[in-house]
Amino acid sequence: MTTAKEALSRSELEAYWLPFTPNRHFKSQPRLLERASGMYYWTADGRQILDGVAGLWCVNAGHGRREITDAVAAQLETLDYAPPFQMAHTGAFRLANELTRIAPAGLDHVFFTNSGSESVDTALKIALAYHRMRGEGTRTRLIGRERAYHGVGFGGISVGGIAPNRRMWSGALLPGVDHLPHTHDPTRNAFTRGQPPLGAELADELERLVALHDAASIAAVIVEPIAGSTGVLIPPRGYLQRLRQICDRHGILLIFDEVITGFGRTGAPFAAQEFGVTPDIMTLAKGLTNGCAPMGAVLVSHAVHDAFMHGPDGIELFHGYTYSAHPLCCAAALATLAIYEREGLLTRARTLAASWEQAAHQLRGLPHVLDVRNYGLIAGLELAPIPDRPGARGFDIYLKCFERGVLIRQTADIIALSPPLIIERAQIDQLFETLSAVLRG
Ligand code: PLP
Repeated sequence: MTTAKEALSRSELEAYWLPFTPNRHFKSQPRLLERASGMYYWTADGRQILDGVAGLWCVNAGHGRREITDAVAAQLETLDYAPPFQMAHTGAFRLANELTRIAPAGLDHVFFTNSGSESVDTALKIALAYHRMRGEGTRTRLIGRERAYHGVGFGGISVGGIAPNRRMWSGALLPGVDHLPHTHDPTRNAFTRGQPPLGAELADELERLVALHDAASIAAVIVEPIAGSTGVLIPPRGYLQRLRQICDRHGILLIFDEVITGFGRTGAPFAAQEFGVTPDIMTLAKGLTNGCAPMGAVLVSHAVHDAFMHGPDGIELFHGYTYSAHPLCCAAALATLAIYEREGLLTRARTLAASWEQAAHQLRGLPHVLDVRNYGLIAGLELAPIPDRPGARGFDIYLKCFERGVLIRQTADIIALSPPLIIERAQIDQLFETLSAVLRG
């Protein structure tokens, strides 16, 4: 692959420290993207790459949307920045109203952040503060889940459950955090189409943690409705409902991290609606601006918000960011939501889900394939690791797909697919046919 070498010398590649990337390998064999439009990227040497992962689960309306470009450009010319403390601009209110309009009923207030990680830490802080505001300051314990990904802030890695993301900082994680078991059970559920039939009882582990720690010590439970970064774990049927019931029984807040499931990925605007379970707090980012501008949001229920509105006059929540509700990001998000609405993208995954599922499960039986799982426009493909080299097979498949013009996402030996929601049938075929050819070797 000559692309980056033509564009940048080895020494020019040195200064930039890439996140979540084997830097030395990357710099010996760089992959540089130069432009993007619709379903495709183009590399620096002009190769067309089908985007099978919506960038990083965020470009839901496809690349290069003119309406977003125009809205951001116009915004920059009229109001480039507005301080978000003690001040606001109309775009922030318009966006909050638009979000609550499409959100699950009852989530009616919005706090803006700049990323998924910030949304998660904000949600955890709101949950802790909520209990204090209500005179239940003993509720300080947070419950996450094994294999969860909630970004990279200290709160997020504490409730998260991906070992390498925590190991280096194990001495500095939040105290008083416990974890539910993950729901991945390939011995019982391999090759399930949609929600696995077995495993709802894993939610009852929350009762065990309540018995162990005492409900009066527990503030919140946070889960991804579908765990993405850990390799696409679809919730067993009835599991999320059971979590909701147990939280209600014990006065524990339920937080859904919808950073990747939000904005149409599952076939409904949000996974909460798709699965019929409404959390008390919901974290968003990524698809909020179609990946064009860094922005996140935390939606909270009326009851959560209301708890903060009864104290003495003054600042109700000592939290916020210089770039909360940044005008540029609000403009990008409003233009994005308008596209989603106009093109029916928040429910398009539902109409494509059957053909997507069919194409994904054709990989069953190919070399190394241990499991295929899917929901909406998401698919996970679990591969048998090469002995003593975990992750090597997944990385090899990722590189070979890229060489053949398809971008996929790899976590260890699991491949995740989550294309822009504008994908057409022929592109679904191209995606899975390329994967199939690579797996056949
Ligand atoms: N939460 C979930 C479920 C995610 O998938 C991610 C990112 O992939 C995050 C949080 C963190 O988002 P960000 O990378 O924008 O901080």
